[in-house]
Amino acid sequence: EWSRVLGRLRTEFDDSVFNSWFKPLALVNIEDGCAIMAAPTRFMRNWLESNYADRIRNAWATENALVSDINFIVMTGFTAPAAEDNRPQQAAPSAAVGRSADFPRGSGNTQSLSDSRPVEVKDSEFGAPLDPRFTFESFVVGKSNELAYAAARRVAENEDVHFNPLFLHSGVGLGKTHLMHAIAWANKERFPHRRVVYLSAEQFMYQFISSIRYKDTMSFKQKFRSVDLLMIDDLQFIANKQSTQEEFFHTFNALIDHRRQVIISADRSPTDMEGIEERIRSRLGWGLVADIHPTEYELRLGILQQKANQVPEVEISNQVLEFLARSVTSNIRELEGALNRMIAHATLIGRPITLEMTKEVLQDLLRANVRRVSIDEIQRRVADYFNIRLSDLLSSRRARQVARPRQVAMYLAKQLTAKSLPDIGRQFGGRDHTTVMHAVKRIDQLRLTDSVLEEDIQHLERIFGT
Ligand code: ADP
Ligand code: MG
Repeated sequence: EWSRVLGRLRTEFDDSVFNSWFKPLALVNIEDGCAIMAAPTRFMRNWLESNYADRIRNAWATENALVSDINFIVMTGFTAPAAEDNRPQQAAPSAAVGRSADFPRGSGNTQSLSDSRPVEVKDSEFGAPLDPRFTFESFVVGKSNELAYAAARRVAENEDVHFNPLFLHSGVGLGKTHLMHAIAWANKERFPHRRVVYLSAEQFMYQFISSIRYKDTMSFKQKFRSVDLLMIDDLQFIANKQSTQEEFFHTFNALIDHRRQVIISADRSPTDMEGIEERIRSRLGWGLVADIHPTEYELRLGILQQKANQVPEVEISNQVLEFLARSVTSNIRELEGALNRMIAHATLIGRPITLEMTKEVLQDLLRANVRRVSIDEIQRRVADYFNIRLSDLLSSRRARQVARPRQVAMYLAKQLTAKSLPDIGRQFGGRDHTTVMHAVKRIDQLRLTDSVLEEDIQHLERIFGT
């Protein structure tokens, strides 16, 4: 039946994911309804726990009703099946910009660790792709983002280091990733010889653990320490991930010591980065910390006008743009989403967009924006209400006294915001959308049978004014 569980997982995931993470697992035992599986390394165990535990548990539950929980252990000396065929594959094309052909190759043979397998460092294992739309030209500047913009320009246009690191932070959808890509494009254009690398903290972690798995850490270190400008997006992802943090910190220090530019983004300021070691937090704040504030009306209108100008074939009145700028205040991603929906609608029906039409088409989004409940707020209030710590709510702890409130918070996030399941999952510590879906269904069911929970939820809904 372990093979049936594996078979199920195989159908649910890409081959590369399956081969990297599930295939190397071995079933050790089933004890008291708990399936114990062994992973070959600590890193794999941690990764499985924080990313795939729910999916694996579900697969077990479907195949064997007696298994209600799962557990991973690390079994040293236990080796994964042949390395070549389960080597993780990078779906995206190369994004390292600059003189990519010169990236160091090989694993520094003289000091290579126990495994002497020759290693090719391919560009595609390095940076993430850059979005051609995210440039300085397309970035609209307003009061809320002018500091971050000025700092970004300064870094992009200079080869020498002015502030190191540059730390950008803001809530979601306010332009951090856009600015980082813009820096990469501009810097590459101005200084073609420079090695500019952009990637998310998650990708950094993924490469790091792969390098350990394939005994490739020398080339990992070497390639990251050879860049002129390193940008790591969404650093909050490595909160509570000890080994990745450690490695990040070494890379970070090495680059800063050699006067290479480092740019970091996160969803909060260095001092607020929970789950990141104090010495790292403090160093993150040594350079320039620039935050992007929630948008103001003028900026929103400016962005809408710029976007509307890009589709001259669709007629959108200023009245409609002003209405959208007034109503969709949560963030720029949603603002763009609203405009795109209107453009799609107008193209379909072949008529200019009217205000009436806008209100009708965007009903759900507008309602969510009127309430303006954010997932952050839901998480805080729910944690408060159930008297648990916010960090526990967002953790991967599965104890019932935190797991249930977490499901309630996910449920409310789905009901009270316009966020998609994947978006919600991301804000709950990077969980998968199926986990959120599962939570929503579960709470929906429980509301019918569990009167205490039903009361809790009604109380919470009142707090959010619904
Ligand atoms: P974050 O990384 O902070 O979550 P993004 O950089 O992904 O946000 O921005 C979300 C969307 O909003 C992107 O499509 C981006 O192009 C757009 N955007 C953000 N800020 C601006 C701006 N100042 N001008 C134009 N577009 C913007
Ligand atoms: Mg981003």
